[in-house]
Amino acid sequence: MADKRIQKELLERFCRYVQIETTSEDNLADRCPTTEGQLTLINMIASELKALGIKDVSVDNNGYLRAFIPGNISRKKVFGFISHADTSPEVSGKNVKPVIHKNYDGKAIKLSDNIVISPKEYPLLAQYKGKTIITADGTTLLGADDKAGIAEIVTAASYFMAHPEVKRNSMEIFITPDEEIGRGTDRFPMDKIKSSYLYTVDGDTEGCIEAECFNAYGARLKIKGVSIHPGSAYGKMVNATLLGSEFLSMLPKNEMPETSKDREGFFCPVSISGGMEECQVSLILRDFDASGMERRIRMVEEAAEALKKCWPSAVVELEIAHSYSNMREYVDKDKKCLSYLEDAVEKTGIKPVYKLIRGGTDGSRLSEMGHPCPNMFTGGQNFHGKLEWAALPAMERAVQVIINLVCTGIKQ
Ligand SMILES: [Zn+2]
Repeated sequence: MADKRIQKELLERFCRYVQIETTSEDNLADRCPTTEGQLTLINMIASELKALGIKDVSVDNNGYLRAFIPGNISRKKVFGFISHADTSPEVSGKNVKPVIHKNYDGKAIKLSDNIVISPKEYPLLAQYKGKTIITADGTTLLGADDKAGIAEIVTAASYFMAHPEVKRNSMEIFITPDEEIGRGTDRFPMDKIKSSYLYTVDGDTEGCIEAECFNAYGARLKIKGVSIHPGSAYGKMVNATLLGSEFLSMLPKNEMPETSKDREGFFCPVSISGGMEECQVSLILRDFDASGMERRIRMVEEAAEALKKCWPSAVVELEIAHSYSNMREYVDKDKKCLSYLEDAVEKTGIKPVYKLIRGGTDGSRLSEMGHPCPNMFTGGQNFHGKLEWAALPAMERAVQVIINLVCTGIKQ
């Protein structure tokens, strides 16, 4: 990017955001945001956007931030960008100390004895030799997921506020809480969305566009058996725990997360708990194709039926619930949504690369609810762990893509 000041701003912003602990917490899900730190960050960003001169900035009672920068041309479109304030509960996000590796030497980066980010394992690193890399210090995750996205969106907004002479469409911003625990869109202020084109800024490698994700269901099997003293159980006991494991053993081992990749879906047992009297099994089902998902649901139902037949005195109840859908069919309804993003990436001088999301995003749910929302890259890598890192040039490119999108269809 030509503007050095903005480059400096981007790094400074990112390092500031990652130092705020915003880990979301699944077992506090009746609160929104689930943790106080998220609100601290979101309010800080709101103040920052106001200080940039943006008038329309608000944080609602659930902690969702929305900001709007009106365009300065006639017949303007609205481009919206979403990122999430929380970090994954899998790894600590407390006292994150960002380490800036200026003029990276291309060698393995040793953060501690057993935390080493090596270009052998992560070849993408080599591409940034001589450039700036940001990591944590080996004790926490970094939080590029998704504070890189936030820093990029805010920096693009800052660019527009500093350059009113640049002709632009309107830009809308949403920062959401609790994405990492699957609740980012639960209380999304849908009625406030003005964007015709929405994008989550929550991907990794530069150039990547993600417009296809899993169809997702959850299944829960409740088994009531017959408990009786093991010493006198002959012919009487129906051991719920045994039935739970029998049920799981009926699912194909070669269709589990650890045995599937690329376009393949899976069954994933998440937990089995209980005792001899009662047992609960929960699993998640994932598949890119709707027909593939139907097959998976049928197989789970058949396994439950087989269990019932085999153990007539047990009570077996199966509940299957939809979580989210593959966004592709929704995104494809208006081809411009992706073609604008492709153009915006190409204008930065690289080719867009399509990737499958082997999971879901806030955009999956939004797409389903009528707001097609593909995902673009942030430049972060190795999310949800201590090996997380981000490349500053990739982050700058993300800012440029956002700027290009907001300037779609305009000759400067
Ligand atoms: Zn994320």
